[in-house]
Amino acid sequence: MANYNLRLIKTRRSYNITEMASLLGVDRKTCQRWIKTEGLKVIEKGVNPLLVIGADLRGFLKAKRERRRFVLGESEFFCMKCHKSVETKTGSEKIVKTGKRIGRSDLEQLKRTGLCKVCNTKVNRFLRGERQN
Ligand SMILES: [Zn+2]
Repeated sequence: MANYNLRLIKTRRSYNITEMASLLGVDRKTCQRWIKTEGLKVIEKGVNPLLVIGADLRGFLKAKRERRRFVLGESEFFCMKCHKSVETKTGSEKIVKTGKRIGRSDLEQLKRTGLCKVCNTKVNRFLRGERQN
């Protein structure tokens, strides 16, 4: 499934099916299915053209993305090349500080990096560091 660029969607604009399809690079039928069977909200039902508010479209796709979000095991990485979760080659793994801080609790951001066991591509995974008081 495509990874839609949600930033292309203007929240305050309304889109008809043709506009939605070309904006996201999907088939019109896909958009119709979103409305008919997947619960994408339209401004008014049964009118032509059907219009969807940008904010609703964005929310809908975001929720869709969340649902298929990958859950990785403790020692797994997501390899972009293999398109799946992989383990790293033994001994290739290391942890680097990114120098960034995350969230309200100001945790240090760490990056675990290694090489994919399957294709040898570099894989990264971001971690939360220890709380700094
Ligand atoms: Zn790989």
